[in-house]
Amino acid sequence: MKTTVDSLEGNRLGLFIDGQYTAPGSGRYVESFDPATGQAWYQFAEADDGDVDRAVRSARQAFHSPAWRRMTQTDRGKLVRRLAELVLENAERLALLETRDNGKLLREMRAQMRALPDSYTYFAGMADKLQGDTIPVNKLDQLNFNIREPLGVIGMITPWNSPLMLLTGTLAPCLAIGNTVVIKPSEHATASTLALAELIMLAGFPAGVVNVVSGGGAVTGEALTRHPGIDKYVFTGSTDTGRRIAGNAANNLAPCQMELGGKSPHVVFADVDIEKAVNGVVSGVFAAAGQTCVAGSRCFVEASIYQRFVEALVARTQRITVGHPMEEGTDIGPLALQAQLQKLQHYVALGASQGARVAVGGRRPSGADLAQGWYFEPTVLADASNDMTFMRDELFGPVVGVVPFSSEEEMISMANDTAYGLASGVWTQNIDRAMRFASRIDAGTVWINTYRSAAYMSANGGFKDSGYGRRGGFDVMREFSRAKNIVIDY
Ligand code: NAD
Repeated sequence: MKTTVDSLEGNRLGLFIDGQYTAPGSGRYVESFDPATGQAWYQFAEADDGDVDRAVRSARQAFHSPAWRRMTQTDRGKLVRRLAELVLENAERLALLETRDNGKLLREMRAQMRALPDSYTYFAGMADKLQGDTIPVNKLDQLNFNIREPLGVIGMITPWNSPLMLLTGTLAPCLAIGNTVVIKPSEHATASTLALAELIMLAGFPAGVVNVVSGGGAVTGEALTRHPGIDKYVFTGSTDTGRRIAGNAANNLAPCQMELGGKSPHVVFADVDIEKAVNGVVSGVFAAAGQTCVAGSRCFVEASIYQRFVEALVARTQRITVGHPMEEGTDIGPLALQAQLQKLQHYVALGASQGARVAVGGRRPSGADLAQGWYFEPTVLADASNDMTFMRDELFGPVVGVVPFSSEEEMISMANDTAYGLASGVWTQNIDRAMRFASRIDAGTVWINTYRSAAYMSANGGFKDSGYGRRGGFDVMREFSRAKNIVIDY
């Protein structure tokens, strides 16, 4: 069994259970594909019920073990800081693994990996700040107080689009607080999480504190979310999968934290610098080939500048370079999943048949060098309306619909007319108008004259079908700890 994921090409990667790489009980391995070439490049193990049970038992044992339970808060914080250093030392390797797995731009993955250590360091600081409170209860001969404890074993299920970045926001505080975890990474991007497991071992975490069970949703995901030994689930992924996981977890009365899909509105008022707003809209929706949960895929533009805005948006979109994710000049790489190509083509055709105008894009790029990869041109569907099918469903690709509006009232009712509530953006010079938007929009995040700017220091999460629970900031300490009430008579 490989003990390192350094050179993956053609290799088989095991599960990471109880501090070591191990073969799956079923002996089953699955191919992982490179989206830029469409070629298989390594195999990952598929964990079944038995493997997941081994991982959960190991995490439970580690949770109660003196090595972890009796470690001082300061020492736990030091371990998380040591992990931050190791992530920094290995940033380039981790970035390469993610780019090969999910097709996102190497420079973006590099930026994410270089930012991760700061995030680990921030959450490491929570290790010695988990404190309870004393409660006045009208009894002078009683002391009534709450202590806060770690929750226990946390099951984490991650998507492929930014595996380590999305994992860190919950893994780092969970470890700092003293929980143990079982992680199931996406079957479309497994390598970087297994590489992180190696760093966790090197940092000196006791065996079993972190376990990684790879495999698809139907086998490994189901095994993990039906397991009675998990105290809380953290899920990042699509809304449909979130519903399924919450259903499974409910049978064991296990709570969940859900970061789900989005169909975020991006609003442009007539008083803006059009070029600046166009750049904001382009980066807000086309970054990572539209494969971000916060993609501002519904763009509402004030009617008086609508024509000029659409022309500028189309011109800017035509200048986007679609290409190999490891090349410097590339703005947009391939889609991570082959099935996404057909899905996007279907939605664009449906949008056109429902009356939208394909102003640019809408197909696979023509260059021979891109023929093998899963590339799709950035697409603007102008003259759209909010009830068209592509404006309702999350496409998770580089497609934006543009709709004119005549009044704030009309705009806010369209912007809120969606099942989702993850993020939103507004471009205007008028602060009153921006704040009216911020107070009336049903979304967990509001960006004013910017988009996609996120920080691990602030709590964030979705409204409506975009999920529940908060990540980031100090809220996260309550999410992964519990109060225990103690009463002393004296
Ligand atoms: P997905 O829902 O298909 O898969 C996510 C994870 O769930 C994967 O690990 C998958 O194997 C697992 N899974 C699938 N079926 C399962 C089951 N029955 N039981 C347990 N686990 C199961 O999502 P994806 O395609 O990997 O990611 C894209 C989606 O994630 C988009 O909808 C995007 O908006 C969302 N997302 C949300 C956020 C956020 O912070 N809100 C961030 C990133 C991505």
